[in-house]
Amino acid sequence: MNTSLLSPDKDPMGTAISDYSQKHKADRLRVFSSLFDEDEIPVKELFRPFKQMPLLEKTALEMAKGSVLDVGAGSGCHSLALQEMGKEVCAIEISPASVEVMKKRGVKDVRLINLFNEQFSDKFDTILMLMNGSGIIGKIENMPAFFKKMKQLLKSEGFILMDSSDLRYLYEEEDGSFLVDLNDDYYGEIDFQMQYKDIQGETFDWLYIDFQTLSLYASEYGFKAELIKEGKHYDYLAKLSII
Ligand code: SAH
Repeated sequence: MNTSLLSPDKDPMGTAISDYSQKHKADRLRVFSSLFDEDEIPVKELFRPFKQMPLLEKTALEMAKGSVLDVGAGSGCHSLALQEMGKEVCAIEISPASVEVMKKRGVKDVRLINLFNEQFSDKFDTILMLMNGSGIIGKIENMPAFFKKMKQLLKSEGFILMDSSDLRYLYEEEDGSFLVDLNDDYYGEIDFQMQYKDIQGETFDWLYIDFQTLSLYASEYGFKAELIKEGKHYDYLAKLSII
């Protein structure tokens, strides 16, 4: 697994987050992928307060218990909401700019570290992975490394709360059936690249995974997957606990 951090000149999202936190406005955060047309992430949405979060995220925050790890915490929106609820949270990020913003916004325990860094070995009751949190796994082939890391970071009764989407709707035919080539790579493996002003990030892998496939891998690596809630568009929240 890649265990590196982002360098400031290749951190478009962190720079956008930093701009927005200072000026309350930001330029366009552009998103490119070989599979989709160019898109944009509204930077303001990265600062969503609890009441503006999607129901899946609100549910995850309410379910989080004990010491919570917020993986890829961004602007700190979930960490701050958890702190307001009186919960104990540690936020981790690979973006130095986002870490600075989180510190300024009052996230108490923020660390600039990659989830997959060997040195990162604290223990948590809840691991939160939100905003298509499965993305950080990158590719299906990283499943063994991902679950190994989760076992290292979780207390024995601990669990992961992760949201994701089933991208099969992209392959829907007119008659409502789905045409997926099983000889291809898994259909939820997407490459992305972001740009903010003239800052262009590296291309990265981002995994969207359907609940059934997630459950199969979970059970193969000693976890039980529960479907907690489904969203409006093939999205869902899952709870993964150690068996
Ligand atoms: N959770 C936030 C941000 C989601 S964007 C929110 O819901 O608004 C995903 C974030 O994960 C980015 O800020 C990115 O820098 C961070 N990230 C990506 N890979 C990571 C890794 N391996 N370890 C820690 N953070 C990571």
